[in-house]
Amino acid sequence: MADYDVIVIGAGNGGISCAALLAKQGRKVLVLEQSDRVGGCCSTFVKDGYHFDVGASIVEVIYPIELAFKMLGTEFQKEVELIPCDPIYSYIFRDGSRVNYPLSLEGTAEVIGKLNEADGKQWYKLADYFAEMMKQTIEAFFTSPANNMVDMLKMVAKNPGILKFLPLFATSYQDVIKKYFKDEVVQQTMSFQSFYCGLPPELAPGFIALIPYSEHEGIYYPRGGMIQIPEAFRRIGESLGMELRFNAKVDKVLVRNRRAEGVRLADGTEITSKLVVSNVNAKKLYLEYIGEEHLPWINRVGMKSYEVSMSCMMMYVGCDYRPPLEAHHSLTIGPLQMMNDFWYNEYKNGQIPEDVYGLICWPTESDPALAPEGHHVLNIMGMGPYRLQGQSWDEEKMRVAEKFINELSKFAIPDLKDHVTVLEVSTPVDFERRLLSPGGAIYGLQMDIPAQAVFRPASRSKCIKGLYLTGASTHPGGGVPSTIASGLIASTLIEKYEK
Ligand SMILES: Cc1cc2nc3c(=O)[nH]c(=O)nc-3n(C[C@H](O)[C@H](O)[C@H](O)COP(=O)(O)OP(=O)(O)OC[C@H]3O[C@@H](n4cnc5c(N)ncnc54)[C@H](O)[C@@H]3O)c2cc1C
Repeated sequence: MADYDVIVIGAGNGGISCAALLAKQGRKVLVLEQSDRVGGCCSTFVKDGYHFDVGASIVEVIYPIELAFKMLGTEFQKEVELIPCDPIYSYIFRDGSRVNYPLSLEGTAEVIGKLNEADGKQWYKLADYFAEMMKQTIEAFFTSPANNMVDMLKMVAKNPGILKFLPLFATSYQDVIKKYFKDEVVQQTMSFQSFYCGLPPELAPGFIALIPYSEHEGIYYPRGGMIQIPEAFRRIGESLGMELRFNAKVDKVLVRNRRAEGVRLADGTEITSKLVVSNVNAKKLYLEYIGEEHLPWINRVGMKSYEVSMSCMMMYVGCDYRPPLEAHHSLTIGPLQMMNDFWYNEYKNGQIPEDVYGLICWPTESDPALAPEGHHVLNIMGMGPYRLQGQSWDEEKMRVAEKFINELSKFAIPDLKDHVTVLEVSTPVDFERRLLSPGGAIYGLQMDIPAQAVFRPASRSKCIKGLYLTGASTHPGGGVPSTIASGLIASTLIEKYEK
């Protein structure tokens, strides 16, 4: 007799949402989390009265999250207060000038139109195209299994309208943006979102160019910090009997005759279960926790062929003044070609970028209670390769962060350097230590075309019975809504196949 019906490894969004949904199915569920909190990349920590988000800074495309809470018998916005962000983002140029995009489509058309009249009109064409894509794919693709070709055919049969968008899988993000916009400044301000899938505009799949539109359907910040989303799943799961243990690192998945039968913890304790759900990086799961000896050769080779996604550097800044910013998100990234060049010249060569490529998140603009009165929080994300050539992140990180803040003080956030009261830095290596994500990967596995949908590690394992995957490295990929969709998909598959 197994100790539990299901053991879930990891309490990131994919794991904790799946666990709550499985508890709702009446299963005896145990969640094992190696850190001391839920949420993984979508978590929040407190230092000296400042609340810093570990990674994720906003949530958009909330349909999968709404659906998951509905399946739990409640409503997303009853469980978590969502603060709408408007403007969506402010693009800050080296001369200090800014382009701010408001939430409304009309307002954005006006801003683009001032940069280039023809592009202002084109904006409506892009918006119409991607609004239609959202309608056709959000249910059919993002919240449905993509385990095999049969699933893909079912997707199309149920919703033939999605075929119209197939060409986006054969083109790049950059090509889509260049097709719609001719002005270089417009192209620049619409291109950095390719990094939301961990790739430069030239390599990101064309369908990611949906993001500059989808943000206009609403971007939100949860009052109390990003951790409020996984905390809501935890609260509901626990009320349904789900157990959660912190500081419980899984070292091995117990496998017999190609069936998962439980886990072994780092302290040697073995816990058995009928099913195992993994919320950890799929490459690490299969090659380390399960072990190559349990994998057929084709899965062994396949798994080794995946690349882990991009890593980054986070600077968590507490400051004693109101930073002169104009939006919850501000960007300081160069022209489109520079985004591609950065990837090949610096990121791939293990160089710390010389320029200030970054995303500045200002959560206290939306929720002032996240800092002591009169103070503010800035979570600044910089690009950073995991492996540095001839340098060590531990030795370089404070120098790099201080240089970054000094540079930002010159053109983007005047006087910031004189107002910093707290500075914490998390490098790609720290991300790996904190979340056990190999290579400090922020989206699990790379999200290029060869690793999408049916080509991504399957939600229902194809080689180990009783094993299910959630999180950024399975379909539909990285991001808060996608990983919650993955939890929802795994729970639906378990309901179907594991009576
Ligand atoms: C810097 C950054 C910025 C981002 N910005 C955004 C954003 O603004 N909007 C957005 O939608 N997405 C954003 N993302 C992506 C999004 O946060 C992630 O894709 C998503 O939260 C990942 O969820 P997950 O289910 O894959 O789990 P993860 O967050 O990867 O969590 C996995 C959990 O498993 C635990 N774990 C790992 N190994 C073990 C083990 N052996 N035993 C037990 N527990 C283990 C970890 O401690 C962790 O808690 C960002 C990510 C980062 C890093």
